Amino acid sequence: MDLSPLENEIRKRIKLAGPMPIRQFMTMCLTHPDYGYYVTRDPFGVSGDFITSPEISQVFGELIGLWAASAWHMMGQPENVRLIELGPGRGTMLIDAMRAAQVVPAFRAAIVLHLVEINPKLRERQQQMLGTIDVPAMWHETFDEVPDGPAIILANEFFDALPINQAIKQFNGWYERVVEVDASGNLAFGIASDVIPLFDQLVPPAVRDAPVGSIYEWRTDNLALAIGQRMRRELGAALIIDYGHLKSAAGDTLQAVGNHNFVSALHNPGEVDLTAHVDFEAIASTADSMGARIHGPVDQARLLRNLGIEKRAAALKTYASPEKGAEIDSACQRLLGQGRGGMGRLFKALAITHPDMKTVPGFE
Ligand code: SAH
Repeated sequence: MDLSPLENEIRKRIKLAGPMPIRQFMTMCLTHPDYGYYVTRDPFGVSGDFITSPEISQVFGELIGLWAASAWHMMGQPENVRLIELGPGRGTMLIDAMRAAQVVPAFRAAIVLHLVEINPKLRERQQQMLGTIDVPAMWHETFDEVPDGPAIILANEFFDALPINQAIKQFNGWYERVVEVDASGNLAFGIASDVIPLFDQLVPPAVRDAPVGSIYEWRTDNLALAIGQRMRRELGAALIIDYGHLKSAAGDTLQAVGNHNFVSALHNPGEVDLTAHVDFEAIASTADSMGARIHGPVDQARLLRNLGIEKRAAALKTYASPEKGAEIDSACQRLLGQGRGGMGRLFKALAITHPDMKTVPGFE
């Protein structure tokens, strides 16, 4: 059996150090410096593994641009503002947002872009895209590298790509979930040998009474904490959009997607996208505990409707051919849809702002 270099490395580590926590497995699969999924490819589009809202319709990025302009207004129109995007993908959302922001020239003139991106291929692509517009831009490996100052932070489908930890409940407590090599020599999910002390007291109350066998997921990246601290310290607003749940709950949401299909998370490490649902209650309560103000979460359909998606789509259709008009309609249906394949309810939006900002658009 020919194993990929990353799978060989994972097996080697398991042999040396024992079963590997899910978090470590996910980190290696996504961001291993040589073989990680996000380091080696452009995963987007019809020929890629998945497609995101900004790639579905330009209306998405445009509405986000207007959101940013109006957040800037509410911040008191600072002369310089950092527009930070976490995980900008192909840069599509920023381009559409910047075009829409032209209606507020003073805002556009105040912007310095900061792109937090780990993927060298996507970085290059973002540089090409942004080269076509006249806005200063800087790139960073992590959010912590972005200098202080008034900031608007955007993150669409970023948090879901951050590694999770998983614990599984047994009759005598919670155990870390791990990846191991089973008796037939395959990678398999397992359970660590030692109970996590006092874990029952750490999980949210709603998870405490979960039945034996339940899985609880959490992230330890501290990003929500850093955003909360920053929004407490200086003027700013962050908009986080992702798929996930409004309330913390038990459940195994680790998923792998390759070529637009769900596959096993253990099959082909580094070759498929691994994500997990975002726990919006956990992000909100972390940022809140840092002294920032929380708005929402609301579902994506509500955010986009509040921001005027229907009006924007109608305006675009006035100049469009019937075919193009039908495309605009079907893209909007996908962004707003409640049923299967629709993103309107599965996706949620949360804003984190400076405590003085009592409202932000979209969350009324
Ligand atoms: N926001 C974009 C892309 C979402 S995919 C869109 O909506 O289309 C996730 C993005 O985050 C990609 O650009 C990926 O390369 C980047 N990324 C993933 N993990 C990262 C990490 N740990 N640090 C920085 N960027 C990361």
